[in-house]
Order: sequence, then structure tokens, then C-alpha cells
Amino acid sequence: HVQVIGIDLGGTSIKGIVADETGRILLQTRRPAEAARGREAILEQLGQLLAGLLEQAPCAAAIGAASAGRINSESGEVVYATDNLPGWQGLQLRDWIEQRWGLPAAVDNDANAALLGEAWSGAGRGLQDVVMLTLGTGVGGANLMQGRLLRGARWSGGEWGHCVLVPGGTRCNCGRRGCAEQYVSGTALSRLAREAGAPAEGRALFEAASRGEPAAAAVLGQYADALALLIGNIEVSLNPEVVILGGGVADSAPLWWRALEQALARARVAQPVRPAQLGNGAGSLGAAWLALERQQTVPVLA
Ligand code: BGC
Ligand code: ZN
Repeated sequence: HVQVIGIDLGGTSIKGIVADETGRILLQTRRPAEAARGREAILEQLGQLLAGLLEQAPCAAAIGAASAGRINSESGEVVYATDNLPGWQGLQLRDWIEQRWGLPAAVDNDANAALLGEAWSGAGRGLQDVVMLTLGTGVGGANLMQGRLLRGARWSGGEWGHCVLVPGGTRCNCGRRGCAEQYVSGTALSRLAREAGAPAEGRALFEAASRGEPAAAAVLGQYADALALLIGNIEVSLNPEVVILGGGVADSAPLWWRALEQALARARVAQPVRPAQLGNGAGSLGAAWLALERQQTVPVLA
């Protein structure tokens, strides 16, 4: 078997796995990331994580890494990153990995990697046209059409988190106002709950809503309406076979799925939607897939 490393770099943690070309995960590890301390701090933590993985998997043939932001997957550069990863913009991430570790590397956006992971062995298995939304600290988006990722001409294709839902609305850390990220991320859900005097933690909020507590139920309804609006925009843009919802908020999908179905019906959206199956392991598995692609030992997606 071919062994590769998959890394998912986030604002709060870095996850790493060793996987083979069948999608089997041989090792996994995770460490908190102090992204707020800037580029050198993240690279140092990434370096420690990689050193640990390579010690245990010395035969690894390639490294794939997923990161938030617009990533030029051809040049390996971080073209744009929001304040969740300060100082990250402009970094030649692929070159840094290849030079420092002497292995071929591939880099891509974290939501693109999550979609690849789900398409390889999760909720998107066997499908050709899939849109993925990751509902976490931010909101990631990715489009797979006819089995290929659509990354766009400037690497911002599929950034559904920055699709404007509310003209003139809440300021987003991308510089625009009213982006989906400000209404359907985990961060936004906590903010809306705090403003309404409801429990700010996701699971506690959903449980309060299901007990019929009015403030919590109202926040959940508002959240579901915004998500339905975004999914309605995806329906008329691409109409994929399915929209997969992942990220931290989707970990408790069973608690809010009914509210989403009701919101989709209210908004007259017929787009099929499914929860992700791989939880927060999707990004690192997708990154491993990218490493295999770099090695030209790509397993088929559909
Ligand atoms: C970034 C995206 C990223 C998403 C999830 C957003 O704020 O703009 O590039 O995919 O967060 O990390
Ligand atoms: Zn934005």
C-alpha cells in the first residue's frame, strides 16, 4: 500500500492523519493551533505535527494540506486568508512543505478537502455533482461538478460562506457585509443566541429549542431560514445531486434537521440536503486524497 499524510490546518487546531490509497486511516493526531500568533507560530506547530507523523510513518510518499482561505492549488500559494489566520496570506505553503520535508506536496482550501473526503468515503460516495458547506468557526464551501472540483479562475469559486444573504448586514472579516458566514457559522449561531438571551452553546441551544423555550426556538428558526436561503441560492446556481452539511454545527445535525426541513419548505427549496458522515475528519482525509493525486495514485471518487 501507498502511505500518505493528510493535514487540516484550522484557526483552532491542526489535524493530521496517515492514510493509504484505500482510504484507510492508519494514524491520527491533533494539536491546538495558536493561529492568532501568526504565520511563524502556525508553521512551527505544523512542523512539530509533521515531524511526529513522519517518525511513525517514515515511508509516507507525499503530503496533502488543507487550509482556510483561497488557495492556489497549482502554485501552492495562499492567495487570500481572513483574520482567522493572520499573516497567512502570501505564504508559499506547498514549497515550504516540499523544501522542509523533502516530499511532494499538494495544498488546497479546507472545504474543498472536506468535500473530497466526503466524496471518497462519506456522504458523497458515488456522486458526481456535490456541494459541501462546512458550518464551523467560518463557513466553507466547495463545488464538485461531474467529478471535478470547480475552484474558479481566482480560487474563490465555491466560497459560499461569502455569498451575501443580507444586503448591508453584519460586517464580515472578508470586508463585505451580510455574508452567509455571519448568519450560518457556528460563531454566528452563538452570537445570535447570546443576543436573544438563549444558551450560546450549539447543543444546549438545540435542546432548549426542542423543549420549546421561545428564545432558543426563535434563534433556531432564524438560523434555519438563513441556511435555507443559502441552499436555495446553491440550488439555482448548480443544482447538485446533494448539498452536504459538515463542520462543527453539523455534529449535532439530528437536533436541528427538522427545523432545516421546515425552513426549506417555507423557502420553497427542493434541493436535496444531507449531513456529512466524516465529522471533522473529512478535511484531513481529503488532504490525503490530494497527496495521492499528487503521487498519481488517485483512487476514483465516484
Ligand atoms: C474562509 C474559507 C474557509 C472557511 C472554513 C472562511 O472564513 O473564507 O476559505 O474555507 O472559512 O474554514
Ligand atoms: Zn465574508
